Amino acid sequence: MSVVRGWCPSAHRPMTSGDGLLVRVKPRLGWFTTEQVLRLCDLAVTFGNGFIDLTSRGNFQLRGVSEEGHAELLSELVEQGFVEADPEREARRTLVIGSGLVYEPRTVDLAERIEGGATRYPLLPPKVAVAVNLGRVLNEGVAGDFRLESSLEGLILRADGAELGRPVTLDKAVDALVELMEWFLATGGAESGRMRKHLERVALPDVWQQVRPKATQGVPVPAKIVMGVLVGVPFGATDAAGLRSLLQASEATHVGLTPWRLLRLAGAGDFDVPGFLTEPDPLQNVAACPGAPACAQGQVATREVAWALAGRVGSLHVSGCAKGCARQAASDVTLVGRDGRFDLVRNGRVGDTPEKSGLTGAEVLELLTA
Ligand code: SF4
Repeated sequence: MSVVRGWCPSAHRPMTSGDGLLVRVKPRLGWFTTEQVLRLCDLAVTFGNGFIDLTSRGNFQLRGVSEEGHAELLSELVEQGFVEADPEREARRTLVIGSGLVYEPRTVDLAERIEGGATRYPLLPPKVAVAVNLGRVLNEGVAGDFRLESSLEGLILRADGAELGRPVTLDKAVDALVELMEWFLATGGAESGRMRKHLERVALPDVWQQVRPKATQGVPVPAKIVMGVLVGVPFGATDAAGLRSLLQASEATHVGLTPWRLLRLAGAGDFDVPGFLTEPDPLQNVAACPGAPACAQGQVATREVAWALAGRVGSLHVSGCAKGCARQAASDVTLVGRDGRFDLVRNGRVGDTPEKSGLTGAEVLELLTA
């Protein structure tokens, strides 16, 4: 198994991290049954180190899988219906669902159509995603290059980075998606890698820029919701034992994965399980990737600093290296690991020019909490 850097890890092409391979498992239409999650917990323990990430694309990621065990894990995942047997087909499953905190038939209908149309999609750069974000107001923090969103006039398809989108009907949404994907590739999108970056150098035709999406309302927080409970997973990091306890205590029937490191527990009652948040908490505003030593590319440890700064600096992103896996959006404070020290970016994202560089963890704490 080769090490593939710069790719989102998948079940077929896992990325190597400091603790082994990362094997990504994507829910169908954003949901797993409780039974499926329990089976994934078993697989995480049998083939990995039991740690499970909830990614910013609303997927689970099993950590610490060995090179030798990967083939057997993959065949279990395929057999149990979690992963497509065909790697290209699996690679086309890029849906990120940012709406549907209450039962939202239009979101389900659209998501089914998008997943159903996947065989028609051209093969896109590995990080490209399709996002669905519908509702009276739109949720923030839903990453996606091809964005199906609500506008005041109905459904639109918007290229990420453009302010306006093109009106589409539900019936024609997949056709429009294919058309925009083909435009992206025909104009050099494969070299750009992402739509937002692509639009910095290529003009999007006017036909794709007609209608503004609805306003956004911020990122959801842990709370009781109509269908159950929205529960926070600090840093998106948990393990098989924690998830099992959560499911048992909450009596949830289904588990929805979201882009905000929140789990939707359908049918859940009251519960209190260590390691999970059921109320708004400053930790929800903090993104921190595993960093060093868990990730082989990590230049610094991330989570100690993140715990220490949670609730003290506004929104915070601590990134183990310049790749910025944990958050693409801007934060009030972004710390980026480089050669064992931190670069500090204010009101920006990984990749923006740092205000200060080469800070130790102690210097960061002193500077930001003085
Ligand atoms: S951002 Fe974090 S998780 Fe991503 S490669 Fe760098 S250290 Fe690893």
